[in-house]
Amino acid sequence: MNVPFLDLKVQYKSIKDEVLPAINDVLDNTAYVLGKPVAAFEKAFAEAHNAKYCYGVSSGTDSNHMVLWALGIGPGDEVIIPANTFIATAWGATLCGAKPVFVDCHNESYNIDPAKVEVAITSKTKAIVAVHLYGQPADMDNLQLIANRFKLFLVEDCAQAHISEYKSNKVGSLGIASSFSFYPGKNLGAYGEGGAVMTDDENLAKKFKMIRDHGMEKKYYHEIYGHNYRMEGIQGAVLGVKLKHLEDWTYGRRRVAAKYRELLKDVDQIIMPKEMEYAKHVYHLFVVQVKKQKLEGGSEKRDELQKFLNENGVSTGLHYPIPLHLQPCFEHLGYKKGDFPVSEQLAECGISLPLYAEMTDEQIDYVCDKIKDFFKI
Ligand SMILES: *Cc1c(COP(=O)(O)O)cnc(C)c1O
Repeated sequence: MNVPFLDLKVQYKSIKDEVLPAINDVLDNTAYVLGKPVAAFEKAFAEAHNAKYCYGVSSGTDSNHMVLWALGIGPGDEVIIPANTFIATAWGATLCGAKPVFVDCHNESYNIDPAKVEVAITSKTKAIVAVHLYGQPADMDNLQLIANRFKLFLVEDCAQAHISEYKSNKVGSLGIASSFSFYPGKNLGAYGEGGAVMTDDENLAKKFKMIRDHGMEKKYYHEIYGHNYRMEGIQGAVLGVKLKHLEDWTYGRRRVAAKYRELLKDVDQIIMPKEMEYAKHVYHLFVVQVKKQKLEGGSEKRDELQKFLNENGVSTGLHYPIPLHLQPCFEHLGYKKGDFPVSEQLAECGISLPLYAEMTDEQIDYVCDKIKDFFKI
């Protein structure tokens, strides 16, 4: 049996009849950039998160940048970022000319550990970026307490966490502002690149709207610096159709995760991801850890498992194999191996199992059987 890591085709087939007319409308109306479908999607997406303002933009990376830019982050400033995240979180800071300062993650939530934030704060720190990694919200209340005490902005990177919940509140307006990605493989994916910024703050919303479109509100009257971070019309139309299915798909993801938990509960060699008490996890990724065990030649048992699954038709992923503080591009920041042990262990021992809403029970059974075969259970 073949189990892909992700299957975008099966989802496309299930909504083809809805999505093609929506794309066709954009072409008929020649509204290729922004336009009505984008505006309608923004409204619906804000409502889905109980937020006031949402703007569709060109990518998640661009939304990471816009959030910090609109808050006035610039050269000389420092921004606190988890060591365990996708690189784009850090580009948000570097694109503003600011310095990313990394903090280790919590060993159960895998999100930035509030207890380790304070030592990273200096007189230059301006913001904390909470990433809701793998689909589970970060510990927002404890991060907000620190942000308040040191007068820092707390922002959310929701690229992996559409409609996830923290203490029964949707992510996206838990901090001052947030960013989203609609990269095709995300829980809500466009048919190309896309992202969004969200806030409840009216002034910030105005800035978002202007920065997205060359710093202007009135045509050719450029009030502030900006960029072209506009969303394409086709992406707005596709996302508008797909948003209606997001709750069902999220339910599907949670079903797969629950089944993994059930079938793998007796496998002592792996550590299951934990759904924190405060969280409604949306399982962008299901990352298990293979208990640390260096094999002859220096490779981890995790690498052997990945190889074995691959040989048996099961695709897996690594999120992420190198934590940000050990990436070559950040060498000049002076971090070293050992600085953030939880993130480093995740990088060495974590493996993401296939997960998408349409996965069949047979596929899930097969993946779990193969894992048990590997561990000779
Ligand atoms: C995917 C992702 C991004 C970047 O989004 P793109 O749309 O690919 O630019 C940013 N942050 C995190 C945590 C992500 O997973």
